[in-house]
Amino acid sequence: SGAGAGLSAAAPELPGWKHVYSGKVRDLYIPADAADAASAESLLMVASDRISAYDWVLDSEIPDKGKVLTGLSLWWFDQLSEIIGNHVISSDVPEAVRGRGLIVANLSMFPVECVARGYLTGSGRADYQATGSVCGIRLPAGLVEADRLEPPIFTPATKAELGEHDENVSFDAVAKTVGDDTAAKLRDLTVEIYQRAEAIARERGIILADTKFEFGTLADGTIVLGDEVLTPDSSRFWDAEGYEPGQTQSSFDKQFVRDWLTTESGWNKSSDTPPPALPDEVVEKTRARYIEAFEKLTGQTFPA
Ligand code: ATP
Ligand code: MG
Repeated sequence: SGAGAGLSAAAPELPGWKHVYSGKVRDLYIPADAADAASAESLLMVASDRISAYDWVLDSEIPDKGKVLTGLSLWWFDQLSEIIGNHVISSDVPEAVRGRGLIVANLSMFPVECVARGYLTGSGRADYQATGSVCGIRLPAGLVEADRLEPPIFTPATKAELGEHDENVSFDAVAKTVGDDTAAKLRDLTVEIYQRAEAIARERGIILADTKFEFGTLADGTIVLGDEVLTPDSSRFWDAEGYEPGQTQSSFDKQFVRDWLTTESGWNKSSDTPPPALPDEVVEKTRARYIEAFEKLTGQTFPA
């Protein structure tokens, strides 16, 4: 496919760091004196203001989005530190990316997206409708969109290449890749962290419907959280107040973008044509929504 592989903004050049990779949203750097990514002990991970929708990186950026996502991740890492360690070393980064860059330990990442679902929606609901199961986990009959799943389930996915969809896989498929013991550990951690985060978000009026973690190991073999955590890009946040199963919930992130793209813009999401740039109003509303999620969850005003 390769759809969505067009990167809108180039990664900035940063003193002391060498750019090695750009995903849809993040740019990764290694220390300038490191030979290659494999041997680097640390990385600089920079969240850009890019936004993706329907697997396309849009031409428009959302001002401050990178700072919101980085600030929120840091806040969550702190909340979770009694359960699990993380990859963060320092937020003392080059001026140009202050607030949205983090120096992190270069982990050996597990090649699995560790998804926990406490509510039935998205690809989980699609699998359920087609098979009655999600990632091989049989669910009761008759569940509707946005129904709560109690207990939450571990629904791993394979990491897709740029522009490809992630693919839901069974627990057994993960066990084949990383071994039975590690697969069980990743599953238990994913569900435990989700449950803690879900409770914290609920106190603040936000339903954490589902989320994705990426784990890796430090040099000594300890499993820790990498990547970003519990942001609107890696999770579905719903407003607890308007929650009603059986219908699509209004989500705390790209709802304005998705709505505008699929209704008003005239763009066909099944086509191979890139989506159009967003009008200023949609950019501004989306920015406000990201900031609202940050402020509701952390109780801090943005910028913190
Ligand atoms: P996309 O999210 O656009 O589908 P992506 O996940 O490849 O693609 P980004 O999320 O933008 O790209 O970039 C972050 C990349 O860095 C991911 O590949 C992620 O697995 C990896 N990563 C995150 N934290 C660490 C870490 N501590 N050590 C090594 N790699 C990491
Ligand atoms: Mg990613």
